[in-house]
Amino acid sequence: MRRSHLRKRPRGPGRPFGKGPDHPIYQLAEKMANLNALESMYRQRLSVLANATNLLDIEAVIRTVQEEIDSHRFSNFFEPGLRDPITGCVHCRLSAPNYSLFIQHLRNDVLSDAIRKAIGSQPLS
Ligand SMILES: [Zn+2]
Repeated sequence: MRRSHLRKRPRGPGRPFGKGPDHPIYQLAEKMANLNALESMYRQRLSVLANATNLLDIEAVIRTVQEEIDSHRFSNFFEPGLRDPITGCVHCRLSAPNYSLFIQHLRNDVLSDAIRKAIGSQPLS
């Protein structure tokens, strides 16, 4: 009874609210459709990301990085033509007069390259 009271204009087929494309319900429907499209796009991206992570053997990456770091040793080495030993990274033949600078060398030069190398050398299965 109340419905017939509210109904003032006849509505066309497929437009139950009869107000044309500006009616909030159609704007809402359009926003929902956009959100659904966005959601499915992100679901697709997430599944690609999950697959990429599964391909990465984290333990192998850690072992490779550890081996790389182990090869850098803080000690003295001699350079041809120099009488006094140089303190630093023997592997790189890089001067690092104290342990703190040697750690900086590991952090700045060795670690990032080792991670890149370890990830880059991963076989894609
Ligand atoms: Zn080094």
